[in-house]
Amino acid sequence: MPDATPLTPGIAPGRLSADALSDNFDDLHPAYAPHEAAVAADRCYFCHDAPCVTACPTDIDIPLFIRQIQTGTPEAAAKTILSQNILGGMCARVCPTETLCEEVCVREAAEGKPVEIGRLQRFATDTLMGAGKHPFTRAADTGKRVAVVGAGPAGLSCAHRLAMHGHHVTLLDARPKAGGLNEFGIAAYKSTDEFAAKEVDWLLQIGGITVETNKQLGRDVTLEALQGDYDAVFLGIGLTGVNALRADGEDKEGVSDAVSFIADLRQAGDLAQIPVGRNVVVIGGGMTAVDAAVQSKLLGAENVTIVYRRGLDQMGASKFEQDLATSKGVRIIPNAQPVAVHGNGAVAEAEFEYTTSKDGTLTGSGETFRIKADQLFKAIGQTLNGAPDGLELEGRKIAVSGTGATSVAGVWAGGDCASGGDDLTVTAVAEGRDAAEDIHSTLMGGN
Ligand SMILES: Cc1cc2nc3c(=O)[nH]c(=O)nc-3n(C[C@H](O)[C@H](O)[C@H](O)COP(=O)(O)OP(=O)(O)OC[C@H]3O[C@@H](n4cnc5c(N)ncnc54)[C@H](O)[C@@H]3O)c2cc1C
Ligand code: SF4
Repeated sequence: MPDATPLTPGIAPGRLSADALSDNFDDLHPAYAPHEAAVAADRCYFCHDAPCVTACPTDIDIPLFIRQIQTGTPEAAAKTILSQNILGGMCARVCPTETLCEEVCVREAAEGKPVEIGRLQRFATDTLMGAGKHPFTRAADTGKRVAVVGAGPAGLSCAHRLAMHGHHVTLLDARPKAGGLNEFGIAAYKSTDEFAAKEVDWLLQIGGITVETNKQLGRDVTLEALQGDYDAVFLGIGLTGVNALRADGEDKEGVSDAVSFIADLRQAGDLAQIPVGRNVVVIGGGMTAVDAAVQSKLLGAENVTIVYRRGLDQMGASKFEQDLATSKGVRIIPNAQPVAVHGNGAVAEAEFEYTTSKDGTLTGSGETFRIKADQLFKAIGQTLNGAPDGLELEGRKIAVSGTGATSVAGVWAGGDCASGGDDLTVTAVAEGRDAAEDIHSTLMGGN
């Protein structure tokens, strides 16, 4: 029996038994058995000019790979996927398909039930990776050297494509492990069984990539030094800063940022060791807010509430994610903004003010309410942190052209740290890949 229960006051680890935790954190979308995949593939119309392909940020030929599954060649299907998206295995688990390919599937329009593209993609990529195969080989050595900073989806995708073209890649990351938010951010029930680490090992089978962890740009190495030592530099440093709440009392014990909580949870060998509040409040409206809230509930918190300052339809988290949260018992309060965090040393209550929104401008109504909280997570967005001086910014991100070139010659950027994009894993993969193609053609004299 666990030491604590969901009713134990304050913040405590071990609120649920090991069995309950293991059930709670099981795969969100379990893998298909082969016959299930065949039945699902049969539902595809193999559309000409398929809308699902247009909706995929990595332009995977979806009808082709589904046809390959249907004809019993899942490894060929995997190669179709991976040639466009080398992290197709992770994307199959984490893509919000309900707002991308599956939203526009003609079967969704006709019957309200799309072809399950994400699960079919997982079936194909898991089959190939499970067989330990890497379907690509390196081109002849070009003698060119590229530094890729950040081993998240953007950096990994860029590094793989460059290595495939025959360049030597050094992949640097400030963290002790590669993977970026695939390893430290994605909800545990979306990426089970150490999949992120396994996928990195599998990707590195291409060869030609040297990984250097615990190496931070700005601390251990400068951009100038990299420019001197390498023929090109790609920055895929993500968004590692956290926005402040700007509410009185936000420095109280028990208030922390959701991303750190999620990172600790992802790295925990034993989920029973992760302390969680009895009454948890999460402030924000994106995937991070939903993930922190759902995982708090799954760890055994009694009451979990997400408070978001605008309407439900403006939440960054999709309807599917919102429904997932409410189905797990999370309460979502829209149209309320934080005013103050109360408590004597540690948080005891969070105070909010109702809001109204007119023409996008948010106004506090003056009416406030309080919610009991012994743990409060800030999930109000991440910001660019530690971008090297001298790079032009656009808004709060590194300014880039369509293929990732920055304002400094020889330096490219992509993924969450770069302008444009939508802060999704699949978009980071696409941007890393496209920047690699541009770097390749520049290095080989094509530009
Ligand atoms: C909690 C959470 C849940 C999410 N869930 C989903 C989801 O379900 N589906 C989805 O599609 N997207 C999700 N996202 C978004 C997705 O994870 C990101 O869009 C994606 O990881 C961006 O990839 P990236 O490579 O640009 O950056 P990151 O994944 O952030 O990787 C950046 C890497 O750069 C390293 N780095 C940073 N600064 C330096 C430096 N100075 N020197 C060296 N290395 C550095 C970091 O350590 C990190 O490894 C989620 C994000 C969060 C925060
Ligand atoms: S839109 Fe749907 S039915 Fe058409 S090709 Fe794509 S997955 Fe198949």
